[in-house]
Amino acid sequence: AAALKPAKKFKPIDYPKPDGKISFDKLTNVSFTNTYHGEDQPVHLVVKDMALQKSSEHDVYAGPSARYCPAGVYEWIEEGGELKFQINSQNCIHCKTCDIKDPNLNINWTVPEGGGGPAYPNM
Ligand code: SF4
Repeated sequence: AAALKPAKKFKPIDYPKPDGKISFDKLTNVSFTNTYHGEDQPVHLVVKDMALQKSSEHDVYAGPSARYCPAGVYEWIEEGGELKFQINSQNCIHCKTCDIKDPNLNINWTVPEGGGGPAYPNM
């Protein structure tokens, strides 16, 4: 988190699209992890202060969670004219990056129920 700088100091990087042969989109890579979550388990990703998330993570840092999270868990979406921080917690692969990379340490990752995590069958 201490290494993050405001977005206005940088230009967006135009990364090449995945080719589907040696590089894949995020959700395809998430499916390769075979991470399983019980349907009714308690929320394991908690944003402590949602107003701070909007005023800082979105407005100052341009929503880095949408890029550093390898599983596409975090999205800023517009709903009824309002910006909403959507958390697709079912996609989480438990790398814990959000817990240490959020610019305000405003996201708390906790161990999922049952201690689940990635299960790569061919490694
Ligand atoms: S621990 Fe955080 S950064 Fe890692 S996959 Fe889950 S939500 Fe994304």
